[in-house]
Amino acid sequence: MRFNEELKNIKTYEAGKPIELVVRDFGINEKDIIKLASNENPYGTSQKVIEAVKNIADKMYMYPDDSMYDLKNLLSKKFNVNSNEIIIGAGSDQVLEFASRAVLNNKSKVLMSKITFAMYEIYAMQQGAKIIRSSCYRHDLDEFYELYKKENPDIIFICTPNNPTGDAIDKDYLFEFLKKVDEPLIIVDGAYMEYASFKDKNKKISPKELIENFENVLYLGTFSKAYGLGGMRVGYGIANRKIIENLYKLRPPFNITTLSLKAATEALKDEEFVKNSIEKNFSQMERYVNYALKKGFEFIDSYTNFITYILPKDINSKDISNRLMKKGIIIRDLNSYGMNAIRITIGTKEQNSIFFEKFDEVLNEY
Ligand SMILES: *Cc1c(COP(=O)(O)O)cnc(C)c1O
Repeated sequence: MRFNEELKNIKTYEAGKPIELVVRDFGINEKDIIKLASNENPYGTSQKVIEAVKNIADKMYMYPDDSMYDLKNLLSKKFNVNSNEIIIGAGSDQVLEFASRAVLNNKSKVLMSKITFAMYEIYAMQQGAKIIRSSCYRHDLDEFYELYKKENPDIIFICTPNNPTGDAIDKDYLFEFLKKVDEPLIIVDGAYMEYASFKDKNKKISPKELIENFENVLYLGTFSKAYGLGGMRVGYGIANRKIIENLYKLRPPFNITTLSLKAATEALKDEEFVKNSIEKNFSQMERYVNYALKKGFEFIDSYTNFITYILPKDINSKDISNRLMKKGIIIRDLNSYGMNAIRITIGTKEQNSIFFEKFDEVLNEY
C-alpha cells in the first residue's frame, strides 16, 4: 500500500484533551473535571438555542437545507455583506481546508507567524506546500512583507487575535499591509474577533470593510468560541464572490448537520448571550492577570477567552500540565509549539477559583 508523499511529514493535530480521557486515565469523576483547554465558551450555549435544537430533534433524519438560506441571510445582515459572499463550513476549519485545496499544490508556499493556529500548517502540508514562518510570535507585518517579497507565497495566514498567544493586531496596521500585497490569498482568521472588538475597537476588523477594499482576502469566523457551539461544528468564510464560488466547488453537499444549522441560526438571534459571556470573560480575565503578576509569571495581554502564561525555565509546561490533569484540570501545554508556556481558557468564576487553588498546590510541589 502506498500513501501520498505529502502525509509523511505531517504531525497529527493534537486537540485539547477531552474530559472523557481524564475520566478514563485518572479515574476522576466527570463532575470534578474542569476543562480549560479548547477555548469553548464556559457559559455553555444560549438556552434559546438549546430549546430550538430540542424542538427539531425529530428532524434529524432529514438532510439540512443545503442552500443554508436562513443562516446565510442572518450572517449577511449581521455583517452587511451579500449571501453570495459567504460560505458555511463544518467549523471554520473546513473553510480553511477548502481554501488550501483551492489554491495550493506541491510547488506552493504559505506564510504564517512563528507561533499560530496549528491547522494552517497541516492543511498546507496536505497539499505539499512549503511553510514559511516569521521569526516573531507576534504578527510582525513588516517582517511578513519582507518575506512576502522574498518568497512569493500563495497564501498568507493572519490570525487576529492569534491562537495560542492571544495577542491581536490593530486594524490600521493590517490594512496598511493589505494595501501592499495583492497577489496571494490572504486569510484573516477572526475566530476570537468578538472578544477583541469588545476589548479594543482598534482591533476590530469588519469583514465588509475587508472585502470591499481587498479582493484577495478571505475572512473566517466561527460559532465554536463566543457563540458557544463548539460541538456543533459551524464556521464561515466571507470574501468576494469569485473566491466564494471557487471554494464552493470543493464543498461536499450537506456539509453541516440539520441540528448544527438550526443551532447557528438561532445563536445569531441571541447576541445578548454572547455579549454577556464576553463581559464575564474579561472580568474573570483580570483574575488571571493578577495571579500572573503575583507569581511573577510573564503573560501575553489577551484579546480572547484564554490567556497564555510563559513559564520560568525551572517550571516545565508539560510537567505542570500533567500535574494539573491529575487534579482534574485540563489546560493546554504549548510545548508542541516550541514555547515553555501554558494556555488556559478563562472559565466561569467557580472554575477559575478551583483552577487557582489547584495551580497553587501544583506550584508548591516544586
Ligand atoms: C477554534 C479556532 C478555529 C476554528 O474552529 P472551528 O471549530 O473549526 O470553527 C479557527 N481558528 C482559530 C485560530 C481557532 O482558535
